[in-house]
Amino acid sequence: MTTRHAVISGASIAGLSAAFWLRRTGWEVTVLERAKAFRDGGQNVDVRGTAREVLTRMGLFDAVKEQNTTETGTVFVDSSGQVLAELPSAGPDAATAELEVLRGDFARTILRHLPAGVEVLYGDTISGVEDGTEDVTVSTTSGRTVRADLLVIAEGVGSSTRDLLFDGLVDRRDLGVAMVFGTIPRTPDDDTRWRWYTTTGGRQIHLRPDNHGTTRAMLACTGNIATGAGALSRFRDRYADAGWEARRVLDGFDGSDDVYVDQLTQIRMPTWHRGRVCLAGDAAWCVTPMGGGGASLALVSGYVLAASLSGSARLDGGLAAYEEWMRPLVDDVQNLPRWILPFAYPRTRLGLRLRRLADKALTSRLLAPLTAKATQVAASDRALPALV
Ligand SMILES: Cc1cc2nc3c(=O)[nH]c(=O)nc-3n(C[C@H](O)[C@H](O)[C@H](O)COP(=O)(O)OP(=O)(O)OC[C@H]3O[C@@H](n4cnc5c(N)ncnc54)[C@H](O)[C@@H]3O)c2cc1C
Repeated sequence: MTTRHAVISGASIAGLSAAFWLRRTGWEVTVLERAKAFRDGGQNVDVRGTAREVLTRMGLFDAVKEQNTTETGTVFVDSSGQVLAELPSAGPDAATAELEVLRGDFARTILRHLPAGVEVLYGDTISGVEDGTEDVTVSTTSGRTVRADLLVIAEGVGSSTRDLLFDGLVDRRDLGVAMVFGTIPRTPDDDTRWRWYTTTGGRQIHLRPDNHGTTRAMLACTGNIATGAGALSRFRDRYADAGWEARRVLDGFDGSDDVYVDQLTQIRMPTWHRGRVCLAGDAAWCVTPMGGGGASLALVSGYVLAASLSGSARLDGGLAAYEEWMRPLVDDVQNLPRWILPFAYPRTRLGLRLRRLADKALTSRLLAPLTAKATQVAASDRALPALV
């Protein structure tokens, strides 16, 4: 059989996982990444459910675990930092998962362990695609022309190649929540636990430890803050009277070179493949941190894609099998209940009081086993497809 060639656009978790597994199953692989070098940065992500099994099959479970962020649990706190309730912490998929890792550390680990022969080209992006019956021809902004059997688009939520090729099929759903993530100096009072503060006006503050001697902070609030220039000052206005560590976090962000602003937007599509092109990770189904499990789904997608293609004589059959396997996992986290937004982001004092009562009940001995289920994502009773 002649060797098949895949071009993968995007070198983060989904793209690198696809590169790993397609190469493992005998494909020639070229990865194109828009950034000029490996993109470090990003905050806490976790590896849950089926993704743990994929990581084990990659032989990378221990390598990722060694880079654990050192977080020991998750607590809700009040404006003086007093613990109000503690989320269940038993098992690998607790609120603080067994595998908590920084996005950059995770992506770099996969990159460093790619099988020999994967070509990763930085500073180049796709400018045109001709999808034919015999092959797919990819042109790039640097003047490359690559003919391949398959194009995998793994460019994240804002994917331009997806928009070019799947025009009219991309349903963007603004969830009405803005988040800003960043790295700030650690202080002696910082905990080994994820501290989660909710206050009125639909605002949250999160502080989490990391394994680099710094603290990972996140502000999350309802409404539209809009990414881009001036986003931080809009967060500053919104958090002026939020209390707890709001001022410290915003001052820290001013001095941080690792700030990531996100207006949470789900990507929903009726199909993730067409001809010789398929989508993977956030480009296909961004679930946002509100659904959770984006990094786990991205990792799993690379394995399922390669396994589905290895088990099918025809490319279209393999791509259909890939989509069929992945879709229930994605639906599970995209279909958020209507009450989740007002519950997670209360606006009034009364709403906040009710939320705190609910937190106490949900973390009580009686209800904790049910609450623990809420953090199970990327979970499936089905066995992963086999590599043939
Ligand atoms: C630098 C960075 C920081 C992040 N920080 C956080 C965070 O703090 N919290 C959080 O919840 N999520 C964060 N994310 C998103 C998180 O990584 C993803 O939700 C999840 O891991 C799924 O990964 P993915 O590979 O599908 O997409 P992504 O991780 O978004 O990766 C997409 C990759 O494609 C590249 N790319 C984009 N467009 C093109 C193009 N046209 N051509 C070629 N390459 C392209 C990007 O540079 C990137 O490397 C971050 C992503 C990145 C890239």
